[in-house]
Amino acid sequence: MSMIIAVTGGKGGVGKSAIAANLAVALSKMGYKTLLIDSDVDNPNDHLFLDVKLRKVRPIRIFTPEIDLDKCIRCGKCNEVCPERVIVIKGDEVPIVFDEACSGCKACVYACPQDAIYDRGRDLGYIHAAIKGNLRIMVGELRPTEAKSALAVNRLIRIAKEDLEKEKYDFVVVDTSPGVHSAVVQALRIADLAIAITEPTPLGLSTMKLTIDLLNTLKLKWIAFINKSTVSSSHRDELLKMCKEAGAQAIFELPYDEEVFKINMSYKLLVESEHPLRRVLLDLAEYIAKLKP
Ligand code: SF4
Ligand code: SF4
Repeated sequence: MSMIIAVTGGKGGVGKSAIAANLAVALSKMGYKTLLIDSDVDNPNDHLFLDVKLRKVRPIRIFTPEIDLDKCIRCGKCNEVCPERVIVIKGDEVPIVFDEACSGCKACVYACPQDAIYDRGRDLGYIHAAIKGNLRIMVGELRPTEAKSALAVNRLIRIAKEDLEKEKYDFVVVDTSPGVHSAVVQALRIADLAIAITEPTPLGLSTMKLTIDLLNTLKLKWIAFINKSTVSSSHRDELLKMCKEAGAQAIFELPYDEEVFKINMSYKLLVESEHPLRRVLLDLAEYIAKLKP
């Protein structure tokens, strides 16, 4: 059975994508068949670290209502049941459907007494994929005009789970969006373990607290990873104390280093470099490998 690890963090820009990509590559190089899922659908960039050419695999499609005007009697029942009031009915006028707000729940279909609503379908975004040796990457990308990130992640995870039933992976690394919102929860739902990434700054501290609260609410086991841990010793100490008290299974620290910063900024992989600090990420991969049942 695959072990699923979510790489998450309450704040953007703390190195989440770099750590997810490095971890997936390290596990694959240890001989484990690994799937990396980039569920940061608003800004997917894990593939840039892998230097692979993505191919578009399939759309992320949801139900979107279309009304058969010959059947519709303008009763307004679809509007009444719709949680988002997506369908507007005004007297005998042609009903208006505001696609962007529709979540595809189909409540309107079941409420319509005339069987007048059918599926026009709408592509929220696309799934892209690539293979690099022992590692497969699956990337969810929201279309620029769409705002339903959580729904897109929900569909991406559902499609990934279908893939997991066919392909047997040793490890799945899921890179979540930053924050503690619904799109993040959709990705955390399938995880066996989370890695909570932060950095020792006032914002890093407050957002880590939110992430920890979410992980503990979800009863998910978690590891803390303090990136650039040497930039503030007082905030680092506070983070260590908070993580230990809140139940971190382990705490990893990557000290700030100009060279590591440059490696990350140029979308290179620290684990494939000669830099001595690559050891931190290799240790993380070895720690996780030992947890596999
Ligand atoms: S599918 Fe759901 S959200 Fe969309 S219009 Fe119908 S009831 Fe509203
Ligand atoms: S519920 Fe059906 S019949 Fe009634 S207004 Fe909506 S689409 Fe028309």
